[in-house]
Amino acid sequence: MVPPAARLTIDLDALAANLAALRAQAPGAETAAVVKADGYGLGAGAVSRRLWAEGVRSFFVARLAEGEALRAELGGGRDAAIYVLDGLVPGAGPRTLAAGLTPVLCSPPQVEAAVALAAAAGRPLSCALHVDTGMNRQGLTPEETAALAQAPGRLAGLDLGLLVSHLGSATEPAHPRNGLQLERFAAVRALFPECRASFAASAGAFLGQAYRFDQVRGGISLYGGGPEERPDPRLKAVATLEAPILDVRSVRPGEFMGYGGDVRAEAPTRLAIVGAGYADGLIRASRGGHAWWNGARRRLVFVTMDLTAVEIGDEPARIGDMVELLGANVQIDDLAAAAGTVAHEILVRLGGRGERIYLGAP
Ligand SMILES: *Cc1c(COP(=O)(O)O)cnc(C)c1O
Repeated sequence: MVPPAARLTIDLDALAANLAALRAQAPGAETAAVVKADGYGLGAGAVSRRLWAEGVRSFFVARLAEGEALRAELGGGRDAAIYVLDGLVPGAGPRTLAAGLTPVLCSPPQVEAAVALAAAAGRPLSCALHVDTGMNRQGLTPEETAALAQAPGRLAGLDLGLLVSHLGSATEPAHPRNGLQLERFAAVRALFPECRASFAASAGAFLGQAYRFDQVRGGISLYGGGPEERPDPRLKAVATLEAPILDVRSVRPGEFMGYGGDVRAEAPTRLAIVGAGYADGLIRASRGGHAWWNGARRRLVFVTMDLTAVEIGDEPARIGDMVELLGANVQIDDLAAAAGTVAHEILVRLGGRGERIYLGAP
């Protein structure tokens, strides 16, 4: 029998459990779902429909096209707010209106474009405002925001419902930038008393009550990534990547293994050669991390495009046995740490090839 293909399993019940864990962190605040980049690579449609069923009514995407696709995936019966973090990029107006998206305006020219769009449409435009409180990536400066608050005519026709900002160091709770950004956000927020406020993403939601405001934007923690970039027992693995053993090889001491001259067998080494690699989303630098097979952790010896080597000791292995490369036993934050990256980057690379299965109610 042909060994199975590499398999990415997405557990929607685990997703729902993580939503509940985030909500428990932010009592009294709305938990919105960040489903940009195709739901962190796990399928924005499937993920969002389940989150809707769990009561989520606000979704965030990055791009206009992601917002349009999500609106179509959710369908006419689901009246969700879909926030587009790119805001109102040039030319986006008609499509934003047509898909009923809420742009998160992030520069003074975008605010002007939104006012013009509302005037042309002859009705109020639902929008949010992104304020940069210290990440220096996206949003109006606090000074630009204050200037708007003092000249309400510059917001004519805008139904400004949400004030957004984003933390740059929330995965390090003791970092002084957190308090600084909080202070700046609270000051800006006071200028827009009618607006709801959204400050914390996943990590920020775990920083305490002061950081939660009216809405938290759950992203990576919905998908199982810990708030401090290490496994968190309150969160469950949503994505599981398994791949079959295609061969077992015995390597003599002193032999090099895989590409390059830096991985060498110090002792007799048995390797399971597993049918997944970069083309399936694994990161080359994650060698040195671990996989899981036959009830135990196994060292990831090397990763190549199609094949990954896992040290399996003396245990008998069969061709076609599945090895877990990511999942409940190979936690995403551990794999990310081994690869020198963050859980977000691991997730968005998954699923290039092989099979994808959803578990749990849609
Ligand atoms: C991506 C993003 C989020 C979600 O971040 P996580 O770390 O995945 O929770 C929230 N807000 C903004 C502005 C983002 O860009």
